Amino acid sequence: MSQQSERSPGPHATSRRRAHVLVIEDSRTFSSLLCHRFEKEHGLKVTHCASTKAFHEAANAVDQPFDAAVVDLNLPDSPDGQILDEVVAMGIPAVVFTADFNRHMRERLVERGVADYVIKNNERAVDMVVAAVERILSNRHVRVLVVDDVTSARKMLTDLLKVQQFQVFEATTGSEALDMLERHPGIDMVLTDYNMPDMDGYELTRRIRREYGADRLRIIGISSSADRLLSASFLKAGANDFVYRPFVVEELQCRIGHNIETLSQMRQLRLAAFSDYLTGLRNRRHFFDEGPARVASCLERGEACSMAMLDIDHFKQLNDTYGHEIGDRVLKAVATRLSSLVEDSDYLLARLGGEEFGILLTGMDCERASLFCETVRRCVAELRVALDDTDIAVTASIGVAEVAGLENFSNYLNAADQFLYLAKRYGRNRVYSDNTLLRMLATGG
Ligand code: GH3
Ligand code: MG
Ligand code: MG
Repeated sequence: MSQQSERSPGPHATSRRRAHVLVIEDSRTFSSLLCHRFEKEHGLKVTHCASTKAFHEAANAVDQPFDAAVVDLNLPDSPDGQILDEVVAMGIPAVVFTADFNRHMRERLVERGVADYVIKNNERAVDMVVAAVERILSNRHVRVLVVDDVTSARKMLTDLLKVQQFQVFEATTGSEALDMLERHPGIDMVLTDYNMPDMDGYELTRRIRREYGADRLRIIGISSSADRLLSASFLKAGANDFVYRPFVVEELQCRIGHNIETLSQMRQLRLAAFSDYLTGLRNRRHFFDEGPARVASCLERGEACSMAMLDIDHFKQLNDTYGHEIGDRVLKAVATRLSSLVEDSDYLLARLGGEEFGILLTGMDCERASLFCETVRRCVAELRVALDDTDIAVTASIGVAEVAGLENFSNYLNAADQFLYLAKRYGRNRVYSDNTLLRMLATGG
């Protein structure tokens, strides 16, 4: 039932609180291995209990609810796994870690609603427990829509998904499902039945695929039909997987897990392709990919929009004096500062290359954009990067140009670059824009 690879948190990470994991295990070797891995490798908060008594004490004293538990079924004061019932009754998702395993035990575990079980019979067992806990924690950010017209069938799936900690949505018809997808754009996976009154599962799959690719939304078909062609037809319609009822719970869980993992890997790849390796900011490709649509929607709404281009002053000299590595540290520090300045806004920030950054200031005319950039300039100038014996300070020059109408996206950057050139030319550590020139003309400066 356990998948082996570990996933990073899902795409909808909302909670920054450190997750709290309970390790109920009397073997010193296993418990110290698990605690170490959870704490050091995954940054989780861990409470360890070697007995039922210790568990009761921990449960009473707990300051932060447990987000998952690893449960050993054989404890000196709970020889028959009684502790598992208590953990499940407290609503804690449980991963059972056991040396004794047989079919009867497996049925008991599935019936009791454990999230996963791992058998202590191979050298990878600890890895599998860690991966299972990580998966359960990240499932909390994954949204799954179950589509089935039969209440009992729907409930069976939603119960199974809830045990796995997914956020579950339900629809009873194909059109309700499509409506739900539109209202909740964060849904990551659809589990759909074949036979439904308004449209069948193929049709629903086809319609979903018109809007959402497999890199955005996974679809798994499920049916109790005896028609062996059903699975092929579902897959051809665009589903990623198919399961016949009655299904083995573990098989469905694994298929769901693999699909979510694939989705998460594709998202990470896309993110990597659009990120700058050094600073973690969005890169030039993303800026050019995303920018034109942002400008267009700004202009459609009748709002102003400005482009700013920032370049660190005398950066070559800084590299020559302190070395490339220190130069990199300065770049990262400037990027972090810029990030914090545009946080919680719709502005698009990217490292365009070298020591150059672009900021698309949607909703800002030249005057407001220049004021904002003046703050940016000041913040960069106030920044200090600490070395062993000294602090480094840098300055930046910024060119700002207001978007006058719909044009090729690179024209906006070229316009900002011309003002940047003037900012450099007239002394650096300054913001130049239309506004600056008008003010200079007005004051005869
Ligand atoms: P100006 O004030 O006119 O902008 O001068 P400058 O020295 O900042 O500009 P110039 O374009 O002459 O030099 C930019 C330098 O940035 C040269 C290049 O080696 C350095 N650089 C580009 N990318 C990186 C990087 O990723 N890391 C480091 N450390 N340096 C970089
Ligand atoms: Mg420079
Ligand atoms: Mg430059």
